[in-house]
Amino acid sequence: MGFGSRLGGRSVSGMETTGTRALRINAVELLRQPGVTKPVDVTVTGADLDVVHDALAGEIDVDVLLTVMNDGIVVRGEVRSPWTGPCRRCLRDLAGVAVAEIDELYQVEIINEEAYPILDHQLNLAPTARQAALLELDAERLCSADCAGLCQQCGVERNTTTCDCDNEVKDHRWAALDGLVLDD
Ligand SMILES: [Zn+2]
Ligand SMILES: [Zn+2]
Repeated sequence: MGFGSRLGGRSVSGMETTGTRALRINAVELLRQPGVTKPVDVTVTGADLDVVHDALAGEIDVDVLLTVMNDGIVVRGEVRSPWTGPCRRCLRDLAGVAVAEIDELYQVEIINEEAYPILDHQLNLAPTARQAALLELDAERLCSADCAGLCQQCGVERNTTTCDCDNEVKDHRWAALDGLVLDD
């Protein structure tokens, strides 16, 4: 960034690319130009967004495109949050990037009741990004869809280890079932 005014006087330049200030966009100039689009790519910390979450493992990337409409500004894009955390079944440490899609409308006069307000001439991406990041960070993770999890008896991870206790339990169950079938 930094060469933002290359397209001429109409573009909104001087945008910071980190920190909460970069998430507050001057809407006055944009709203005069229906049809104009403006990419915003900002990296913020969890603290910047007031996102406190065990799973968050780095800075949050807010990468959106603003599209100016006659009655507001549409914000579409992604919020990407690096995360770490245990597999829900086998508790193995996992890491990845949680991607939340954003598709929101901001309005000065709230006509659409789901729109976010443009207050003091500023479109603030922070509440939208915060909500999106938290939603994705809350998702439960599995190392794989068919993760076998931990043995309920001895606690070994059954993806990689076969344990005797587990087999014994299974054998007893089958034996009981066989017995019933035979009795019939
Ligand atoms: Zn697992
Ligand atoms: Zn076991």
